[in-house]
Amino acid sequence: MRKEAAMQTNGSYTFNFTILDVAGLLNLEVRHRGGKSIDVDCPLCGKKGKMNLNMEKNVFRCNYCNEFGGMIALYGKVMNTDNSAAYREICDALQISYSPAPRSAPVAKPMELPKETELAPVEDRDQTYRLMFSMMTLSKTHKESLMARGLSEMDIYRFGYKSTPAFGFTKLTESLINRGCRLDGIPGFYQKEGRWLPRFNSNCTGIVIPVVSIDGKIQGAQIRLDRPINNRKYIWFSSSEKDGGTGAGSPTHFIGDPADEVVYITEGPLKATVAHILSGKTFAAVAGVNQYVALEELLERLKANGTKTIVETYDMDKLENPHVENGCLKLIELCVKHGFEIKRLRWDPTYKGIDDLLYARKKKI
Ligand SMILES: [Zn+2]
Repeated sequence: MRKEAAMQTNGSYTFNFTILDVAGLLNLEVRHRGGKSIDVDCPLCGKKGKMNLNMEKNVFRCNYCNEFGGMIALYGKVMNTDNSAAYREICDALQISYSPAPRSAPVAKPMELPKETELAPVEDRDQTYRLMFSMMTLSKTHKESLMARGLSEMDIYRFGYKSTPAFGFTKLTESLINRGCRLDGIPGFYQKEGRWLPRFNSNCTGIVIPVVSIDGKIQGAQIRLDRPINNRKYIWFSSSEKDGGTGAGSPTHFIGDPADEVVYITEGPLKATVAHILSGKTFAAVAGVNQYVALEELLERLKANGTKTIVETYDMDKLENPHVENGCLKLIELCVKHGFEIKRLRWDPTYKGIDDLLYARKKKI
């Protein structure tokens, strides 16, 4: 007995086979399995692992050649037949009845694809971000503002600060893809009308700051805004709530010796790097004073590396800002839990951040 291949409900078809059946018929090589989708070698452009098959919606999209559509269209494109012939061939091959035959197979529009993508491994993020930073430039104004914080031209070059680009977005993503970088799962990239785009825009111009892991990998990026939005000076380079986009999470930033006995903790990656350059000490930065999860992961790593003392150097507004003070207390609690000695630094509140204090001292010498 042949099973019915398709049932019509509310004008759309429910099939008795899935995109995985089609992938099996086409012998597609699986490179990565996720919960709701798999990545296969693209049978249309040949790029390894670039085609994503969505098993919930039975749709495909190649992140390299940008072909997308429903599972019947996938078969049709590969076998060079129209959709109705493709549908009959699939049914024949799977030995299921193709009555009633759908006149046209449902084709997914990009907006029907899942909104967000799972965060890519840090190695993939590092590769994409490094190449992206290498293709960006730093404006004169931004360079001067970094130098005014105490960074030398060499420091700026070494730590890779760049300006948000104003144009050339498609060219940027195309170059990244052409050089083998993935954009799915990389915070800051999303899809629009079949194209990958970086989430830069004219309302959020500023300095792009790499956020580096304890292993020296770029795991994310922040933008120091030229014009703060709702009193926020920093935003993440993130594509959450965008098609194919990914949220930044709240990674910690690390600069210095990963096995240092004493590690200073502050808030904000740029501040941490500036403070490290001015003091030579090892600094870690939390994404926000109340981001404990990433902080705890970092503390576990430091404990294993032999770090003994954590020095809290949050901004001096901790004296009057209960939000910051609560963050300090939580940091102390976590340090005690993990067996660190904890010290708290306080200084002349004329200087808000540890970086301001260090730079003022340096200028006096
Ligand atoms: Zn392709």
